[in-house]
Amino acid sequence: MNYIDHHAHMVSRTTDDYAHMALTGCVAVTEPAFWAGWDRSTVEGMEDYFRQLVDFEPKRAAQYGIRHYAWLGMNPKESDNRELSRQVLARLPKLLDGPGVLGVGEIGMNRVTRNEIATYTDQIALAAERRDLVLIHTPHLEDKHKGTRVTIDVLERYPSLPRGRVLVDHAEEHTIEMILDHGFWAGLTLYPQTKVSAQRAVDMIERFGPDRILVAGACDWGPSEPVAVPKFIMEMRRRKHSDALIHEIVFDNPVRFLSQSPKFQRPAGTPEPARVGS
Ligand SMILES: [Zn+2]
Repeated sequence: MNYIDHHAHMVSRTTDDYAHMALTGCVAVTEPAFWAGWDRSTVEGMEDYFRQLVDFEPKRAAQYGIRHYAWLGMNPKESDNRELSRQVLARLPKLLDGPGVLGVGEIGMNRVTRNEIATYTDQIALAAERRDLVLIHTPHLEDKHKGTRVTIDVLERYPSLPRGRVLVDHAEEHTIEMILDHGFWAGLTLYPQTKVSAQRAVDMIERFGPDRILVAGACDWGPSEPVAVPKFIMEMRRRKHSDALIHEIVFDNPVRFLSQSPKFQRPAGTPEPARVGS
């Protein structure tokens, strides 16, 4: 089954991973800018990384028939550095206009510090002004609920940013309802060891339905899985869910959300989804 992985840090992955994704039906990935595992010391270093996402990675993906798109922004962890964040933000508008850049992301909070909230708020203000799509990281583990609450509180101060253009990612059982109830899209990111498993993701789909939910592998430089979405598909089938429902979640939903950017092109040979997402 064809699928789109909306959250994959392909700069951290090998060409074998692209091959496995293509062999399992992946036709497009979107790659949010993130923390590389170490702090960058200059705005130039950050911009070089953005260039890798926009210029180089799409060429690597294309060799496997996968379309590659990027999200640019100051990632949650390094956003605690206010001075570097200010410099990155000054360059962002021009970079966001670049080819294949769908919007601002992944932004948000890591430890929910004052500096992180300030940088996140600056980036939401920028996205609201430009009417960009937004991909938001929510903190893991004990900071998740509080971080998601603060994430939404800031978004509510910017009513000019349509809620249907915002994806709040890394949702879990105790945050997904809050995200959906406010009209945002919720992302479920699947991990092999900790965090949300394919089983827990299917449990959430069974409880909350498929509307405004996206599923991704969020593979990066840590323990993670580039073929997590196909494993989610296997678990859906094991529980006898229809291929129509599965396709809705792994293909139609990302197309609905991502197509709000005129730069996103529906993968060739696929029909329009029947419903219009909110
Ligand atoms: Zn990420």
